[in-house]
Amino acid sequence: MEKVHVNALIIGGGATGLWLLDQLRHEGRSALLVESKSLGTGQTIAAQGILHSGLKYSLQGLLTASAREAREMPAIWRKCLEGNSLPNLSQTDIRSQSFYLWGTNSASSKLGMWGARLGLQVTPQAVSPHNAPALLKGCSGSIFSVAEQVISCESLLANLAETNQKQIVQVAEDQGTEIRLGSDGRVQSIVLNSPDGQQVEVIADWNVFSAGKGNAPLRAAAGLDSRKQQTRPLHMVMVRGGLPEFYGHCVDGATTRVSITSAKRSDGEVVWQVGGKIAEDGVSIDRDDLIALARTELLETMPRLSLEDASWATYRVDRAEGITMTGGRPDSFRIEKEGNVLTAWPTKLVLVPQLIRGLSNTVGSVPARDTEELDKLASWARPAVAKAPWDREQAWTSLTLSQSTAAA
Ligand SMILES: Cc1cc2nc3c(=O)[nH]c(=O)nc-3n(C[C@H](O)[C@H](O)[C@H](O)COP(=O)(O)OP(=O)(O)OC[C@H]3O[C@@H](n4cnc5c(N)ncnc54)[C@H](O)[C@@H]3O)c2cc1C
Repeated sequence: MEKVHVNALIIGGGATGLWLLDQLRHEGRSALLVESKSLGTGQTIAAQGILHSGLKYSLQGLLTASAREAREMPAIWRKCLEGNSLPNLSQTDIRSQSFYLWGTNSASSKLGMWGARLGLQVTPQAVSPHNAPALLKGCSGSIFSVAEQVISCESLLANLAETNQKQIVQVAEDQGTEIRLGSDGRVQSIVLNSPDGQQVEVIADWNVFSAGKGNAPLRAAAGLDSRKQQTRPLHMVMVRGGLPEFYGHCVDGATTRVSITSAKRSDGEVVWQVGGKIAEDGVSIDRDDLIALARTELLETMPRLSLEDASWATYRVDRAEGITMTGGRPDSFRIEKEGNVLTAWPTKLVLVPQLIRGLSNTVGSVPARDTEELDKLASWARPAVAKAPWDREQAWTSLTLSQSTAAA
């Protein structure tokens, strides 16, 4: 069997794997990324693309550890999106430069104070009622604008894949990567199987698992503890039909009641992705009941919203992260370093640059290898970017008024 030697074999082509590949390539390392489905399947393609500044994690007026971790990140992303830092993300669509934050109770006026007081780089700016967007007119609480960018994750994946085509290959969905352990228990090599039956044995200085939820089975195959990963499910709502583009969090105390971002379907129609507390509560609710609940929540939080022409759908997705004692969200990214295996979970998309810094410092500690070896995979297929949930979904539900009232 053909053998290939690389500095890093990266398994999994979501935001983590693709960003790491770009970084290592620019550092002159030889790196190969393998994907068993399509790029970003799982979390990245489903993400809302909000480049959090930490404000969302400080709604109680405390600088939480999560907020501290996130606060430097938007500036790093901004430079990449402008093409002034690597990776060059100038081809990634910025869906919005800012975000509305509004509350449903009288305490919401305090929201404006937290960002500055806690030393966050992004601070909420009060929006006067007559400057409020039409959708938020008639809301009882205060309204703020927050300069948090929202990106299209689909175009982020395409952007990162495009610049590193030669180093990314498709492996079979089943048994695409066969991990071979040495007598010392370390990963000796990984045999790659292509969907059309080709095989190559990769011997890597570092094997990086960046497979999201797929990290657990990879770890088990490498003789590592798969319980170091936790998953936290979400049941997200999608709604389309005559809606304007809108980006905003409606908060109630320290919780985000609904978190709305807009995406465009392949035919150009605007779709709202609705997350926040409703998507967490929605895990134990079936599709139709969740749609009815989402309708009620949206109309309560945005009294001027018209949903007459709305069609609805939902999707379930798991967030995969390093384990925590409580099962709650980790404060930061997680890297497990065991032998020649690195397992990586960013926890949030916005934390990917910080995660990559940690990974590339480790991978960069070995001498650079010849990148020409990758030519041996020149005939292998390249994976496509995953389809977004709103383009994948076939069954959209229109609620008649009587149905929604009954269900709510
Ligand atoms: C609904 C939702 C909304 C979110 N919104 C935000 C947000 O607004 N802001 C934010 O900062 N974060 C957000 N996040 C979190 C963010 O999406 C994730 O932290 C991040 O995308 C994880 O990226 P990843 O590359 O590590 O994993 P993934 O995106 O899950 O990618 C893993 C990749 O590995 C591949 N793979 C799996 N197993 C194998 C295998 N055996 N061999 C080869 N390939 C394999 C998969 O097909 C996939 O392409 C959100 C998450 C969800 C679920």
